[in-house]
Amino acid sequence: MPNQRDPRYDILFEPVKIGPVTAPNRFFQVPHCNGTGRWAPRTVAAMREAKAEGGWGVVCTETVEIHHSTELHPFPSLLLWDDSDIAEMALMPEAVHRHGALAGIELGHFGIAAGNRWTRAPLLGPSAVPAFESIEPFHAKAMDKADIREFRRWHRNAAIRAQKAGYDIIYVYASHALTLLAQFLYTSINTRTDEYGGSLENRARLLREVLEDTKEAVGGSCAVALRFAVHDSTFEGGPQFDGEGRELVEMLADLPDLWDVNVSDWSHDSATSRFSKEGFQEDFVSFVKQVTDKPVVSVGRFTSPDTMVSQIKRGVTDFIGAARPSIADPWLPRKIDEGRVEDIRECIGCNVCVSGEWSYSPMRCTQNPTILEEWRRDWHPERIARKTSENSLLIVGGGPAGLECALAAGRRGYAVTLAEAGTGLGGRVTLESAMPGLSEWARVRDYRVFQLQQMPNVDIYLDSALDAEQVLEFGFDRVAVATGARWHREGIGRHHSAPIPGSGCDGVLTPDDIMRGAEVKGPVVVYDSESAYIGSVIAEKLAGDGHAVTLVSPGSEIAAWTALTMEQARITARMHEVCSGVLTDRKILSIASGEVTVQHAWSGAKQALPCGTLVLVASRVPNDGLYRDLVADPEALSRAGIKSVDRIGDCLAPHLIAAAVYSGHRYARELDEDVAETPFLRQDSIWSSVTRPE
Ligand code: ADP
Ligand code: SF4
Repeated sequence: MPNQRDPRYDILFEPVKIGPVTAPNRFFQVPHCNGTGRWAPRTVAAMREAKAEGGWGVVCTETVEIHHSTELHPFPSLLLWDDSDIAEMALMPEAVHRHGALAGIELGHFGIAAGNRWTRAPLLGPSAVPAFESIEPFHAKAMDKADIREFRRWHRNAAIRAQKAGYDIIYVYASHALTLLAQFLYTSINTRTDEYGGSLENRARLLREVLEDTKEAVGGSCAVALRFAVHDSTFEGGPQFDGEGRELVEMLADLPDLWDVNVSDWSHDSATSRFSKEGFQEDFVSFVKQVTDKPVVSVGRFTSPDTMVSQIKRGVTDFIGAARPSIADPWLPRKIDEGRVEDIRECIGCNVCVSGEWSYSPMRCTQNPTILEEWRRDWHPERIARKTSENSLLIVGGGPAGLECALAAGRRGYAVTLAEAGTGLGGRVTLESAMPGLSEWARVRDYRVFQLQQMPNVDIYLDSALDAEQVLEFGFDRVAVATGARWHREGIGRHHSAPIPGSGCDGVLTPDDIMRGAEVKGPVVVYDSESAYIGSVIAEKLAGDGHAVTLVSPGSEIAAWTALTMEQARITARMHEVCSGVLTDRKILSIASGEVTVQHAWSGAKQALPCGTLVLVASRVPNDGLYRDLVADPEALSRAGIKSVDRIGDCLAPHLIAAAVYSGHRYARELDEDVAETPFLRQDSIWSSVTRPE
C-alpha cells in the first residue's frame, strides 16, 4: 500500500493551466536529448513513457528538426521534416498520454549550429558567419527575405505536423544559441541592417513572428511554449538577465502560453555538481515571473521536494523543470506523492548522461541503469521480475557494482549475502566523493545502502575480506565477484606501454593512495595520462591542502574526456587557478628521487621538474585475483556446490561508475534467466522493417 503524501508537498501536485491545456501537476520534464533520437524512436518513446508513469505531468521530446535544411547529423535528434515523419513522432505522445501526462515537442531550426553533413543543404544564418562550434570551414548563407518567409512556413508546417502527431505543447526554441531564433538575438551573429537586425525589437522580430504563426496555426488546441535562455555567460552578444534577457521577456511577456527559461550555453544550463549546486539558476531566472502572467518553468537539478516547494512558494517558478533528475529517477514525482521521499534516486550531477549526446551514443546514467533499456530489454525502472530459482547469491565487494547487484537481486527475491573487505560500503564512490566537488556522488552509495537496509533477504558483512578458501567454505549457489580495480602503480596506460623508468621510487603514488590519505611531500607533480576527471580532482585536492602542484598532461588538452560532460572549460580554468604550473604535450621520460624529467611531444625539449611526490594517473587494473583463484579449480567449485562464478563491474573491466552500476544490475536481471545471443530488441524504427511509402 502506498504511504500518504506529506501535505507540505500538496502544492507540487496542483494542476496548472498552460493556454488551452492543463498539466496534471507541477512536475515538468523539459526537453532533453539522449543520444538516441531518430535512430531508436521506440526506445525513446518508452523512456519518456516511464517518466509519465512515474508522475511527470509534462514530458517533452529532445530537439526536433523541422526541415531537411537544418540537420544535426551525427547528433541524433528527432525529425519532422515532412508528413512521413508523423507516424514515428506519434509514438511518444501516445505513450505518455496513457498515463495522463501532457506531451511537449521542441521544434528547432538550428541555423549556424547545424552541420547539414547528411543533407548537404547550405547552412542558413542571420548573417554570413562561420558555422558555430565546428572546426570545419563551413559558412552560413545570410537569409534573405524569401529565406525568412520559407523558414516561417517550415516552422508553421512542423507545428501542424506536431499537432497531428498528438503533441499538446509546441515549443518555439530560442535558447542555448543553438537555434536560428536564438541566433537572430545575438549581436555577434546578427549583423543585419534590415528590420531583422539592429535594435532588440528588430532582432526579436522573427521570434515574435514565429510565436504568432505557431499560435495562429495550432494555438486553439495546443499550448505554445517559448524556451529562452535569459542569460548567456559563454557567447558574445547574447542576452543578459539584467539587460536584453529581461527586456525580451518584457517585450513578449504574454505572447507564449508558457515560458521555459534557463541559462546558456548548455554547459551552464546543465552544470555539473562539481561546479553548481541545486537551484543554481534561480538568481538568473527569478525575475521572469514578475514580468509575465503566463506560467513559468525553470530548472536547477532539483531533487529535494522541500527545495521544490520553496521555489513555488517564493514565486520563482510555477513548474519544477527537470531533465537529469527525471533521468536518474523517472519515478521521482510518484515517490513524493506516495510519501516515499527517501526512495528517490537522486541525480548526482555527473553528466555521464550528457556524454552520450556528445559521443553520438545512447545516454547512460550513473544512478539509473535502466535508462533507454525500457523498450529493448524490457527493463522497468521500478519493477523487476521475481526470481525463477531458489539459488543463493554471494556478492564479494560493496562498491557500486556489488551494491546495485545486491539491490536488484534482493528485489527479485534472492537470498543475498554481500561481503565487503572494508569497514564501510561504497568502494570507489566513497573514496571519490570525498574529493573536492564530488560530494553529491555519495548518493550512488547512500541510495542503495538505505534500500538494502530495508530488505530482510539481504545480509551485509563489513570487514570481511574473502579469499577463495572462504568462498568455497560458504558454498553459495552463485558468486558474483565485485572486487573492483586499482590504479596502475607504474604509469602504464594509453601513453606508456611499459613501466615508466623509476616508477618504483619513493614518493610515487596513485590516486588510490591520495584518496586513502597517504602522506604527501611537496612539490607535487600530477601526471594525468588518463585524461578523464580524477587527475584534475587530485590536483585540486593537493593544491587545496597547500602543496605547490604542477599538472602534466601528455595530451594537448587537460582532462580531454570531460569535454563530453561539458566540464572541460571549467576544469581547465580551475587548474590554471589552483596549480602552480599546467604543462600539456609532455610525457614523462624518467623518475628519480626529487625530480621527474618530461619531454615535449613536438619539440623534443626535455625539462626537469622538482618533485617531492609524483601522482601517476594512468590506467586501472582489475582486482580479479579472487575470481582467478576460484575459477582455477572447477572441481573444488563443484564440490562446494557453487554453480557459477562471475565478475561484475570494475573487476570485469574498469570503466565509469555508471558502467559498474549497469554491470551489477544486468547480472541480477539475467540471473537464472535464458538470455538470447543478442540480448535486446533491434527493430526499433518503424521504417527499418517496411518500405517507406511514396
Ligand atoms: P566497482 O566499481 O566495480 O563496484 P569498487 O572498486 O568501487 O568496484 O569496489 C570494490 C569493493 O570490493 C571495494 O569496496 C573493496 O573493498 C571490495 N573488495 C575487494 N576485494 C575484496 C575481497 N576479497 N573481499 C571482500 N571485498 C573486497
Ligand atoms: Fe544525473 Fe549523472 Fe544520471 Fe545524468 S548521469 S541523470 S547527471 S546521475
